[in-house]
Amino acid sequence: MDLSRKMVEDIPKVISHYWKTGGFNWPMIIYISLVHSAALYGVAKLSDCSRETLLWAFILWPISGFGITVGVHRLWSHRSYEAHPALRCLLMLCNSVANQGTIFHWARDHRVHHKFSETRADPHNATRGFFYAHIGWLLVQKDPEVVKAGREMDFSDLLADPFVAFQKKLDPWFTLYMSFVMPAQVASYLWGEQFWNAFFVCGALRYVCVLHFTWCVNSAAHLYGDHPYDVMSYPAENPFVSWVAVGEGWHNWHHKYPFDYAASEFGISSQFNPSKLLIDIFAALGLVWGRKRGTAAWQLGRTRRIRDKANGVPLSVPAPRPWEVTAEGGKKME
Ligand SMILES: [Zn+2]
Ligand SMILES: [Zn+2]
Repeated sequence: MDLSRKMVEDIPKVISHYWKTGGFNWPMIIYISLVHSAALYGVAKLSDCSRETLLWAFILWPISGFGITVGVHRLWSHRSYEAHPALRCLLMLCNSVANQGTIFHWARDHRVHHKFSETRADPHNATRGFFYAHIGWLLVQKDPEVVKAGREMDFSDLLADPFVAFQKKLDPWFTLYMSFVMPAQVASYLWGEQFWNAFFVCGALRYVCVLHFTWCVNSAAHLYGDHPYDVMSYPAENPFVSWVAVGEGWHNWHHKYPFDYAASEFGISSQFNPSKLLIDIFAALGLVWGRKRGTAAWQLGRTRRIRDKANGVPLSVPAPRPWEVTAEGGKKME
């Protein structure tokens, strides 16, 4: 599958669909255009930066990445483990460096995504193609079904956490400061880097890279990869996404067992998953407890499947990919 060709083909679909229904989300289009322009300027500034600044920009990738994976995803969205207030405070700060909306808004959209995956109520419904699932969903107004689904779900547990409430109260200024200004201040105070060099490289360029790494979970890990745990679902096991999204690409397992703190079947020796390693380290330090796993449920299902196979029960048929489906909803015969 030629990915770039697919993306170009998908753009008109997104535009025509939403021009008729919700229309474009102009503030977000302007914001995303601005940060991408700043990131491009950051590429031009790379050669002006000291080695310390480049290293700092690189380190901010996992720092902000863990704020998404260990923080808002596995802790706040899925409650897959419990964390000490000191760790929740640290994860809120890391999450603010990632600046992907507040923890409250991210977790709300993500819970809706899991409950209504690949339907109209899914905020980044991958059946609308790679472009929509990756970035297009942010450029247009939310589908009314997404808004309705969000209103019908309970998110009161999120704001009961004082760190989540603090970040939401200061939105968007605190996350903007932590994402763009704080990295530049650290570089200029600690090793004398020019403020604007660090602003564009450690702030804007690093920020936009991590944005795309996270978006790959919604696009690439919903469209490309194996489906060993649930052949009927779109989410897939995608090693590339795991590399860029610090362990979040084992997405077929994750959608099957979203309560699993590891978000993957195996340990870190066979599946790249630094987010699991970090949670385990914090558990060893006494800052994490109550880690949930899906492995027992998977083993039970495996036993059932082996029995069904022995009894001649037919296997499930994989769901068709978006490009395999005709406009009428049937499967293309090419
Ligand atoms: Zn997903
Ligand atoms: Zn999830």
